[in-house]
Amino acid sequence: MMLGFCLALGHLYFAASPTGTPDAVAVRAARMLDVRSGRYVDRPVVIIKGDKIDKVGTETPPSGMKTIDLGNRTLLPGLIDAHTHVLLQGDATEAEYHEQILKEYPSHRVARAVRALAIALEHGFTGLRDLETEGAGYGDVGLRDAVNEKVIPGPRMQVAGPALSTSGTYPILHFRPDWVFPVGVQICDGADGCRRAVREQLSYGTDWVKIYSNGGGNHLTSDGYIDSPPNWTREEMAAVVSEAHARGHKVAAHATSDTGIRMAVEAGVDSIEHGDSIRPEVAKMMAKKNIYLSPTLTVLFYVAEPRTKEGRAIWGEMPKVAARSFRNAIDAGVKIAFGTDAGGFPWTEINQAKEFSHMVRLGISPLEAIRSATVVAADLMGWKKAGSIEPGGEADLVAVLGDPLQDVAVLEKIDFVMKAGQVIRRPE
Ligand SMILES: [Zn+2]
Repeated sequence: MMLGFCLALGHLYFAASPTGTPDAVAVRAARMLDVRSGRYVDRPVVIIKGDKIDKVGTETPPSGMKTIDLGNRTLLPGLIDAHTHVLLQGDATEAEYHEQILKEYPSHRVARAVRALAIALEHGFTGLRDLETEGAGYGDVGLRDAVNEKVIPGPRMQVAGPALSTSGTYPILHFRPDWVFPVGVQICDGADGCRRAVREQLSYGTDWVKIYSNGGGNHLTSDGYIDSPPNWTREEMAAVVSEAHARGHKVAAHATSDTGIRMAVEAGVDSIEHGDSIRPEVAKMMAKKNIYLSPTLTVLFYVAEPRTKEGRAIWGEMPKVAARSFRNAIDAGVKIAFGTDAGGFPWTEINQAKEFSHMVRLGISPLEAIRSATVVAADLMGWKKAGSIEPGGEADLVAVLGDPLQDVAVLEKIDFVMKAGQVIRRPE
């Protein structure tokens, strides 16, 4: 992985002409997935001008135009991961979390985040929603801006800064009370206090507000779902949502229990993160209110075993409850936005595209899984020009050998990546 990472940096500004004027480039492949119709277009020719797609067709490109011929590959839109933590490098156990929050210098964390951004891009993720920095403050705002300024390579990003939770609900917890430790989120209490926290966070340039709707205390119910006490009063949660919405920003809710999910859905958040315990009637409410689900199955299957071994028995139950909840959401027609929780597992060990296989194994088609990481995720982000290959859209493209509609796991082997018209990675 590290070898590829270095190669990617070398190719970064490939498409820019020496004068700085963007040349037109034609990209050809064996087939292209039209994510809207769900059909393949044979022998596509996509003309790129600058950072945008100019034309999409099948005609031979004009003679003399620079052409990237991807041979027998399948061309798709750049992928979007709607739930990541670039400032986190795996926290399957409490010890790993403490190590990063308590010991790592902010500069070290940012350096590792820069590497995470390059890895995401190299794996074909040209867009990320990064949902909270875990004790690294507004580091994600600076990283987003550095990517936009082309200081460092990375996907286009929307960020949340530190998430919000209430006193006593989020680590670092349970150390001696006369010492002051950092907390992985911003704490707010009371409706007024939480309104103020939202105003403050948005003033620092965040795009999203993230809340932890529930935290500890998850337990199995007699009918096989998961429940826990909520972190918030209804008044507090309503204050967060109304304040964010009034200022034109959306709210993502980490919610893993019946009560946590139900309260967040009733409060009108825009997305449920994880959603490990969604009863059918709550799924119906989500669909009706157009609330997206970002299932993050990759992290769940990664952390379940180490957390169970650590003595947190509920994690042994979570995978099967989450699988049931995922199907309830699909059956109710909830929009699924591809989200992995990368950073909850190490960026250097697992390709976040593994989520596609988990989703298909739990009951959706490869096409729906690909839509969740393209058009659906783009809708959630409000990106009208990303998530599909269309004239006027962002020139974010990926390509891979094989047929992802037959075997979605091939998306873990993407070997061509273009972001905003720049070739990030090309087949070796
Ligand atoms: Zn997360």
